[in-house]
Parts: sequence; structure tokens; C-alpha cells
Amino acid sequence: MNIVIVEDDPKIASFVSRGLKAEGYATTVIADGETAMRAVPAMGEDVDLVLLDIGLPGKDGKAVLAHWRAEKFSKPVIILTARNEISEKVKGLNAGATDYVTKPFSFDELLARVRAAMRGFESTSLTNLEVADISFDLLTKVAFRGGKRIELAQREWALLELFMRNPHQVLSRIQILNHVWDYSFDPGSNIVDVYVGYLRKKINISNHEPLIQTVRGAGYRFIPPSSPWS
Ligand code: CA
Repeated sequence: MNIVIVEDDPKIASFVSRGLKAEGYATTVIADGETAMRAVPAMGEDVDLVLLDIGLPGKDGKAVLAHWRAEKFSKPVIILTARNEISEKVKGLNAGATDYVTKPFSFDELLARVRAAMRGFESTSLTNLEVADISFDLLTKVAFRGGKRIELAQREWALLELFMRNPHQVLSRIQILNHVWDYSFDPGSNIVDVYVGYLRKKINISNHEPLIQTVRGAGYRFIPPSSPWS
């Protein structure tokens, strides 16, 4: 799976590229609209999805996308747009975008959109995570444990998904922050601890083992070693 990242901000391009590579995708970064306009359709089957910034040197993202669609380039395209360009979203979708993500975004938010766009395109079937006695529906973002339905807010489900994809591993606060919050977030804040607390309250139910362990000085681990599932 190769994802083309058309983005002129090197910080964002490398943040996205590193994250996607860690998830097993190949990436190609293109930093200007003119090059992207010509190069992407020429890649043919070597491209599976495109992340397209709107504000680009050379040619802006909307013009690039319009050109691609006119050329019958049919792969999914997710637009990356600044919050103050939010009205651009409708125009973007009209111009043939599959979806859009507003900057600044967390990596997990982007990844969820990428997976959804891929699913829509290929109808792959992995929509549910199950670890220990908890299951999490990736589409509806609802978790179930012991027959109980657990509604989760955005950061909470991103956090739960991260834990469920990395069971038994100690995740540091910085790792969690980088995955669930965006790249501009202050690493000195205690937001991770606060949200782990929220998530614990929601997923802990009586007569069931607590699933998130605090590892002193290191971070958090989903499924502590004492649990019957480890
Ligand atoms: Ca830009």
C-alpha cells in the first residue's frame, strides 16, 4: 500500500510519513502542486491513496485535484485543510475529494480517515478490535465489555484503539501524546494522564480485571501482567 503525501510543510509531511510507515504503509512525499499534478496519475497502480494539502506552491490542491479527476484518476484523495479554510471542505468534496481532515490533526485521526477511505475503496473487513474481554468497533467507535455498551469521546476512543493495538506494551506518555494528540501539543501537559483516567472510568466494570496499568516512571500498559489474558 503506497500513500502519496502532497504537502509543502516538511514538519507535517515527515510527521505523517513516519506515522504511516510505522503502520506498514509505504509513502511518497511531494512538496509542490505542479509536480503532484503530473506525477501522481503517472504512478498508476503504485498509488493507493493520496493526502493532499490545499495551500501548495505551484498549483493549489483544489486545482490539482480537479485536474486529476478530469484525467480520470480515481484513487481516494483525502484533503488536508487548515481550520480557517473549513468552507473549502464542501468545495473539496465537490471537486472529487473522498474526505478531508482539518489541521492540526492527531495522527490517529488521520489514520482512521485513511483506513475508512481505503475500506470504502477496497471494502476490506477489519472493523472490530478484540483484546481480552473488550471489543471496539472501529466504525462506530463504540466499545463493549461484559455486555455493557461504552460510548467514547474522540480522544478516548483514539486512546483505546492505541492500547488495543499494542497490548502488553508499555507506552510512554510521549508515545501516547504523539499518537492521540496533534504534533503541536505541549509534551509537558498532563493531558495523557487525565484522559487515561477518563478511559479507565469508562472501561472498568465491576467483577472484571482493570485493563490499564500505570507503570511508574514509564507510562501505561494495556492488560497488566497479572491479568488472566496475559
Ligand atoms: Ca501548505
